[in-house]
Amino acid sequence: MNFQEILSKASSRLKLKNIKSYKLDSELLLAKTLNISREEVLLNLNKTIDQSDIKKYNYFLKLRNQYKPIAHIINYKFFWKYKFFVNKDVLIPRPDTELIIEKILGILPLSSNKNILDIGTGSGCIAISLKKERPNCRITAIDKSKKAIKVAKKNAEMHQVGKKVNFFNIDVDKYLSSKYDLIVSNPPYIKHSELLSLGKDIKLNEPRLALSGGSSGLEIYFKIINKCRILLKINGMLFLEIGHKQGKELKKYLNLNGFNQTRIYKDLSGRDRCIVSTKNK
Ligand code: GLN
Repeated sequence: MNFQEILSKASSRLKLKNIKSYKLDSELLLAKTLNISREEVLLNLNKTIDQSDIKKYNYFLKLRNQYKPIAHIINYKFFWKYKFFVNKDVLIPRPDTELIIEKILGILPLSSNKNILDIGTGSGCIAISLKKERPNCRITAIDKSKKAIKVAKKNAEMHQVGKKVNFFNIDVDKYLSSKYDLIVSNPPYIKHSELLSLGKDIKLNEPRLALSGGSSGLEIYFKIINKCRILLKINGMLFLEIGHKQGKELKKYLNLNGFNQTRIYKDLSGRDRCIVSTKNK
């Protein structure tokens, strides 16, 4: 059997399971099996695959058919310009979150040396991408999950910023520090009642701690906003990723709780995805 044949078999198996990215996934899994890039797979479609690799490939396909996320099988996910190691201890970085990076970079000149905090860093994707883009900024990243901090540190090492980003395993509630110019967070924001309607990939595999925003979906935002009043300098800025129906209420809350100049930005699919606000004088 050649690559082309095995790929078409595999993608129809995934399609039967309603996995939307069946074509891409079948290619990524073959690349993982053969320890080559996806591009190399596609450039060698007539090459034959040997028996032991077929076995290995079928094992990965079986995991995917059981709705294990592709990023968990291949153990990485691209975010912004970088490849991040991921496992079940962290949220898989989402392309939507790149909006917050864009917005932050938009206000920071290349030479910026601002003091930045990332709350709930997870895989470290936000903190590390910012450090790579604005090397003179001082960046601290915290997460209440010890296992997440381990993953974030591993990613920082992989991107040569292991010693340049400060990671702490601590809950934002307990975190005390000097003041920041900018704070960013992509907190868990799924309503408790909506957790069950998430796709199986997510629901069965990603950490609940990274997804659940309590009964209203907003609880962690309220906690973060209140803490940021203390952690931010006057005129310091807060950048939060939000769920598409949460903008209005959060804007109101921010404006009533020590923030102003609140703006909401939409993602590529035209849905509210990010809220930016400035701490009052
Ligand atoms: N900051 C990480 C991310 O954006 C983790 C977010 C989370 O766990 N809610 O992917």
